[in-house]
Amino acid sequence: MKRFTDTDIWDKEWFMKLSPKHKCLLRFIFDKCDAAGVWTPNWVLASAYVNDTNPCSSEDLDQLTEQIEFLPNGKVFIPEFIMFQYGKLSKDCKPHIPVYRLLQKHGIDINAIKMSEDIGKTHNVSDLLRKRIFEEDGFVCCYCGKEKEVRNLTIDHVVSRKRGGTDKADNLVASCLPCNIKKSDLSVEEFCSKYNLDFPSISERIAVRLSERLPERVSDTLKEKEKEKEQDKEEDNNEGGYRGKHSRKPNIKPEGKKDTELKNQYKEFVEEVKKMPDNAQKKIAIASFINDHKPNFIEPYADLWNLSTSVYGIASLATISEGRVKKFKTRVREPDFDFVKILQEIRNSHYLQGKKTDWKIDWDWLFENDTNYLKVIEGKYRNTSN
Ligand SMILES: [Zn+2]
Repeated sequence: MKRFTDTDIWDKEWFMKLSPKHKCLLRFIFDKCDAAGVWTPNWVLASAYVNDTNPCSSEDLDQLTEQIEFLPNGKVFIPEFIMFQYGKLSKDCKPHIPVYRLLQKHGIDINAIKMSEDIGKTHNVSDLLRKRIFEEDGFVCCYCGKEKEVRNLTIDHVVSRKRGGTDKADNLVASCLPCNIKKSDLSVEEFCSKYNLDFPSISERIAVRLSERLPERVSDTLKEKEKEKEQDKEEDNNEGGYRGKHSRKPNIKPEGKKDTELKNQYKEFVEEVKKMPDNAQKKIAIASFINDHKPNFIEPYADLWNLSTSVYGIASLATISEGRVKKFKTRVREPDFDFVKILQEIRNSHYLQGKKTDWKIDWDWLFENDTNYLKVIEGKYRNTSN
């Protein structure tokens, strides 16, 4: 039988790390699975082909859990197989009919697989946005919490498109392929109850990710694109004014009488925020305030910082001294300063959280010069540097 082979597999770090036995076993399963990507374990046969001194057994599959899924009947399913071999499955395509039949036979939810037609393409989600979401989510699946390689990550619509979910960043999270297939069109709550997952902690994780995913924010990669667009627009637009969603102007508005107004507005606002029942909601609210108003006073930033510190295990800001205000005012004016992005990077960095060394990030370090926060924003302290 002729099949596509992923020749890049040899260059993948996860594959390199496998023992020769497990490399061979994985290739064997890829080649011997049926047209739906399902392999019925036959350990005598597998051992004969792999021909390692130790015979193969189901224990060997523990090394391959990134690539395989177990079906309730004990068979092994390669979730990526269908997408890799056929791309988009279609009932109108004759060669795909037997695949559909096999999936049904194996009790694999056709609807879930239907969903997987979209995986990898995810409709209106551009490659840039995908990349941004993966980075923001630290290459960690939102549902099982495992760190994955890009090849094993997909974009999940928290509210599925079928249920009216949008393709916008605030509805998207990174998810591994198996989780995405299982979640299908289910709501997060339905998904968790169906698979016995911890709904409170998963929904908290989603809330944290989405709260830091401000729809209007432009990540570094997107800035490049916006620049191009902006230039195009300027050519078309006599006024030369850029009226797109994203402002490329410095982070804050010029100081003026509106400042005091905004400060008062924030004071009222924060009283409302305090009444909110959970931290995630509070964070969303304050992050939105920062995003909407680009305030040049320290309070909203300090409040957002303090809402995040306990989660990240870093020091909160107890006092707002004169010196801190001064440093802060300088930083916040710098065009690349992006507080929400900084928090995101802290969330995704074991190093910044002090899990790697004795040192951990704190407010004063972040603001002491014009390079520290930039290094954070640029992802220098990320766990994965793909
Ligand atoms: Zn997962």
